[in-house]
Parts: sequence; C-alpha cells; structure tokens
Amino acid sequence: MTGPQLEQLKENIQQVKLRIQQAAQKAGRSPDEIHLVAASKMNSAERVQAAIQNGISIAGENRVQELLEKYEQGAYEGAQLHFIGTLQTNKIKYLIGKTALIQSVSSEKLGRAIAREAEKKGICQDILLEVNIGMEESKSGLSSNSLLSVIEQLSVLSGIHIRGLMAIPPISHGHNENLRYFDRMRGLFIDISKKRYDNVSMDFLSIGMSNDFEDAISCGANMVRIGTAIFGLRPYMR
Ligand SMILES: *Cc1c(COP(=O)(O)O)cnc(C)c1O
Repeated sequence: MTGPQLEQLKENIQQVKLRIQQAAQKAGRSPDEIHLVAASKMNSAERVQAAIQNGISIAGENRVQELLEKYEQGAYEGAQLHFIGTLQTNKIKYLIGKTALIQSVSSEKLGRAIAREAEKKGICQDILLEVNIGMEESKSGLSSNSLLSVIEQLSVLSGIHIRGLMAIPPISHGHNENLRYFDRMRGLFIDISKKRYDNVSMDFLSIGMSNDFEDAISCGANMVRIGTAIFGLRPYMR
C-alpha cells in the first residue's frame, strides 16, 4: 500500500464514522450502539489489516476461501471476524472457531448444520438470520412468513445462539423504496424481541450498506456493513 492509499483509507474510515455518528444523533440514538462492519471482500490482507489499525474493529467476509487465505496472512488480527456471504454446508467447518458471528444464515437447514459443527467443537456459534425482505428470487434468505417457525426450530439447538437479523434489500430505485424494506425489518425485529424465545436475543439488526446506511440507521439498524465507502470501488466496479 502506498502512503497516499493509506491516507485515503484513513480518511474514508473517519468519514464513515462521522456519518454514522450524525445519522445516529439525528435518529435520537447513541452512536456507540451502531456497530460498523467493514465488508472487506476483494481487498488484500494488507488493506484489511491497515483498516483495523485505523479504527475498524469488525471485518466481514463473503467467501470462505478468501477468508481462509487472508486469515493465514493475519488480516484480521485485532478485530472481530464476521461471515456475511453465501455459505455452503460443506464449508461451515472452516468458519467455526474463527468467526464471532455468521450473519448470513439463510435457511433452517444451514442453521442446523452450523449447530452440528459447532457442537462438535464444543462451541456455541452466534448467528443472525438472513431475511429475504424483498422476496427476490435471485436472493437467498428466509421469507418473513417462515421466520417465526424457523426461530422456534433453531432456538432449541445448543450449538447456535440467534443474535438478530440481517438483510440485503433489493437495489433501490428511490429513497422511499429502501425505507419501506428497512421499516419492515425493524417491524420483524421488534416483534421477535417481544416474543422472548429462550436462547434467542435480538441484539443486532444488520441492515445498511455504503449507499443507504444512514437510512438504515434512521430505521433502527444497529449494525451496518460497509465496503466501498471504506475501501473504495472493488476491481469489477471500476
Ligand atoms: C459487499 C457487501 C456489503 C458492502 O457493500 P458496499 O455497497 O460495498 O458497502 C455488505 N453486505 C454484504 C453481504 C456484502 O456482500
């Protein structure tokens, strides 16, 4: 990384933190309750580590293979590691013991498989359930209709602890459109919180990315996953 690249990265992190702070204040909430996850896909171990040394305390990865390579290179030292991408059951075993939170649990089957792997290792894995809030065919995630029954099924497993909800809303074509999805997520989050299931704690509502995190915070997000606003455009976007 060159000096100017490092300066740019530092500047981006400060800007994002400032914007989170302002959005939280505007919503009458404390900035301290908003968790910033740096979505670091396609960024080198060196860049991820530089971000961690300059104020990032959670890194989120999308691909198991990439995560393992960067893990070996020490990319995540000094930070928490989250998994936020599509997860195949045969790769779960590589994550258990490394990831503080698996955010993208998109089916009951995947939740059960994670619980099994975690139990084998004597660990309780924190997870979020991913909701397909736009009901898009192209996206994975639980339908909001199935959410309560899946929670009931998974809540009895000792290998996982459900800590909240995550969603990637449809690409929005206007400001109000994404607010509507975020609002629905907040509704689900509050409904489930009130039900007080054993072994389920609605601690995290993970919605909001580079283009819409301020809206997400205004709708109750307390975890935002930000890639490009921190690391710049990914190679395929340039
Ligand atoms: C890449 C990614 C993000 C961050 O997206 P940006 O638009 O670059 O901020 C957030 N969540 C998930 C699941 C991602 O894959």
